[in-house]
Amino acid sequence: MFNWAKYLKRSDLIQTGLLIDGVWINNPDTFRVINPVNDELLANIAIATNEDLDNSVKSSKDAFLIWSKKSALERSRLIRKLYELIIENIDDLALILTIEQGKPLSEAKNEVLYSASFFEWFSEEARRAYGDVIPANNINQRSSVIKQAIGVCAAITPWNFPSAMLGRKLAPALAAGCTMIAKPASMTPLSANALGVLALEAGIPAACFNIIHGHSGKIGEFLCHNQDIRKLTFTGSTEVGVWLYQNSANTMKKLSLELGGNAPLIVFDDANLDLAIDGIIASKFRNSGQTCVCANRILVHKKIKNILIDKLLDKVSQLQLGDGRDSHVSLGPLINDDAVMHVNSLVADAIDHGANLICGGKVAANIGKRFFEPTIIDCPNTKNRLFKEEIFAPVLPIYTFTTDEEAVAMANNTEYGLASYIFTQSNARIYRVSEDLEFGMVGVNTGSISAENVPFGGIKMSGLGREGGKTGINEYLVEKYICTQI
Ligand code: NAP
Repeated sequence: MFNWAKYLKRSDLIQTGLLIDGVWINNPDTFRVINPVNDELLANIAIATNEDLDNSVKSSKDAFLIWSKKSALERSRLIRKLYELIIENIDDLALILTIEQGKPLSEAKNEVLYSASFFEWFSEEARRAYGDVIPANNINQRSSVIKQAIGVCAAITPWNFPSAMLGRKLAPALAAGCTMIAKPASMTPLSANALGVLALEAGIPAACFNIIHGHSGKIGEFLCHNQDIRKLTFTGSTEVGVWLYQNSANTMKKLSLELGGNAPLIVFDDANLDLAIDGIIASKFRNSGQTCVCANRILVHKKIKNILIDKLLDKVSQLQLGDGRDSHVSLGPLINDDAVMHVNSLVADAIDHGANLICGGKVAANIGKRFFEPTIIDCPNTKNRLFKEEIFAPVLPIYTFTTDEEAVAMANNTEYGLASYIFTQSNARIYRVSEDLEFGMVGVNTGSISAENVPFGGIKMSGLGREGGKTGINEYLVEKYICTQI
């Protein structure tokens, strides 16, 4: 078993239980969490029983009655305190994240900072849930709309951003006056539990933030069918998102779904190529390509394809694979063996369809069985699976176009609609193309979109959650119309 105490300043951040009503519950039934770098056992995590699931909702419902009645200022101060504690413990939190997920420590630190920023932002937003006064038609009536917390919320989060995706959900929920039951991904539960430790320390009342672990199918069914859970927020695969959507119909709960992506990154022939190269590298290779908004398909104007490939090759050759704890490492492992099998089959399929491997294309076996070499593939057509599926690995497929219309048609030829990127120096093209792209986000001359102060939304099969952006407090509020006879 990994010796956490040797590496962390605060080993109490490692909790292996469920967090229900402020108490860590360590059941005898557990599942294993391993380091994806070397399979070392990191923890045995408690599996929730039916009784635990019931208790998580009951306590969350009781806590809601107290938390939602606190003044916005009181909530704001406690959320701010949690932000401060995250910053205070950032080194430990980043290390936990790197060890359970595999991303380089510098990226893990950025993720924890990003996660903390939601608590900072929403500690302010807690006080801005303004309503409306509406002029009534009748002189003897007054009409107003107030916003109230929706109730007990459930959050299901993925393994690729175990800290940020939870922060993005928990912070606005608490700010609105909701309580939350979180179900983190089973491969990365330790970051969520560490956040649970800090939430209690910040003085956020017991059961405002419960954490459950266990069989995802069973927990998913429980959360969907439970009448007391008024909102379910999910970030993860489109497949599971669709399943949750279908299963929540009977309880008519509010849903936010942030799902998969297949982002096109278009490089026009007037682009600043150095900017485009930096954008592609940052977008594609962050978290070893395991990012929902990362560039999945590079579409480049035929005239500049060869020069773009030469420049990319130069940059890619500087990337270093390894254990994310080593400071020189830029790419960690893929999350598990299934991910390696998936990318191997995608590369083989592309080659079968006539693609030309420029570099990489295989596991770097000398480093470890899950370290996939950064890969560039020149694709003569769009018939391969790389064009259609979320790659989730450090593989860069390149396709060419000759006209703007062709580029937009290729970009839109997918069932996903999360993010897209364009590189051009023409203002007219920026407006025309960004309006024609059927994606919820368009990054112009930038390789990464972070949902800072903007609404976050996808179209087509990516869900429509707005809560990704820091505007998202409304996701956790309901409007009530009050009509008064005077
Ligand atoms: P996933 O398999 O859908 O799992 C996500 C979460 O759902 C995990 O906590 C998982 O639990 C849980 N889960 C799985 N089946 C479930 C079920 N039937 N009912 C309830 N919960 C269930 O996705 P992933 O592989 O972890 O994450 C990668 C995906 O997330 C990619 O598609 C990526 O694009 C997407 N993503 C989207 C965004 C965004 O903002 N749009 C951000 C990050 C990631 P277990 O781990 O216990 O199975």
